[in-house]
Amino acid sequence: MGNYTITVLPGDGIGPEVTEQAILVLDAIASRYQHTFTYHKRLVGVAAIEAEGEAISDESLALCRQSDAILFGAVGGRSDYAGRDKVKPEQALFKLRKGLQFFANLRPVKPLKNLLSASSIKPEILQGTDLLVVRELTGGLYYGHLEPPVPGKPSEIRQTEHGTEAIDTLLYTEAEIERILRVAFEVARDRQKKVTSVDKANVLSSSVLWRQVANRVAAEYPDVAFEHLLVDACAMHLIRKPTSFDVIVTENLFGDILTDEASMLAGSMGMLPSASLGTQKTAHGRLGLYEPIHGSAPDIAGQGKANPIAAILSAAMLLHYSLGLKDEAFAIEAAVAKTIEEGYRTEDLREAGATIINTQQMGQKIAAAV
Ligand code: ATP
Ligand code: MG
Repeated sequence: MGNYTITVLPGDGIGPEVTEQAILVLDAIASRYQHTFTYHKRLVGVAAIEAEGEAISDESLALCRQSDAILFGAVGGRSDYAGRDKVKPEQALFKLRKGLQFFANLRPVKPLKNLLSASSIKPEILQGTDLLVVRELTGGLYYGHLEPPVPGKPSEIRQTEHGTEAIDTLLYTEAEIERILRVAFEVARDRQKKVTSVDKANVLSSSVLWRQVANRVAAEYPDVAFEHLLVDACAMHLIRKPTSFDVIVTENLFGDILTDEASMLAGSMGMLPSASLGTQKTAHGRLGLYEPIHGSAPDIAGQGKANPIAAILSAAMLLHYSLGLKDEAFAIEAAVAKTIEEGYRTEDLREAGATIINTQQMGQKIAAAV
């Protein structure tokens, strides 16, 4: 029995539709386990630009900092709003990730038993897959430059005597590598106790340092099995033998590519949740932002077709990582599995023999199963 505050940022497109269902399921958890969840709902994305002139207000950011966790829908997808030349909805994501230092992006991939045929990978290869990619989110190639670009440390396209050239900098500090490795080992302790560190140490200096730090951190977790894997080999093993992985930890660019690849194992975009964690501790765990991996899906917004399961499983991750409520998180996962097992599907998972229901009905079925 506990009291928790959650900042809710539904956003645009299908964001509000799927977030509403996640809250319905959280309310079912609250009543079953006698918790009190207090939601503070704020605008983000186009919705915030239209009402407040910015993609996320400082007041909303401050509220995020003070809460136990943040539940996020999606932003963007519309180009017809006032102020579109000055403000972009994606600025909200940048402000949240950089401002709150959410450096660890967690993406679990666990294809459901009754959905194995929804993936393009053979069911016998997928059977038993349960992996988690831990991607470094605030460093590496995407941030390894100074703004504005400074000679010697640039990310720019420039003219030289040899013609036009482009340069990006892949920069990691030892401290940045260490903190993401620690997240991976900590979460592995809660899982199958295996970490695969992915790099390109045969070519890149940043990967050589990554490997050194990984070895040092691994020595502190003797109870967790540990291996290194080159990123190209990892890409291959992900679809050849996905069951060989538990936790995969890697830098920003490799993680970006590998998580898109891994997401296809589960069948639909509408199935995959994510967590972004930082260093800020809360009374119950670590402050985090939880969101489906999909975007605002303007093509299906307002039609009741959106699959809310990614948002609902994101709420389960919120319970697990920020509130420390692991039984409650498992209860949501079990409720999702049961609902799928009973044959209920949203439009994106249409298959012979399934009962097609809308966004709201799916939320209600899962809440009832909880
Ligand atoms: P954004 O610009 O916000 O990222 P997008 O146009 O890239 O939006 P996504 O949200 O990434 O669109 O979705 C890509 C495709 O996947 C769309 O055709 C969308 O309908 C489908 N899709 C995404 N999420 C879901 C969902 N939860 N349920 C069903 N289909 C989805
Ligand atoms: Mg998109």
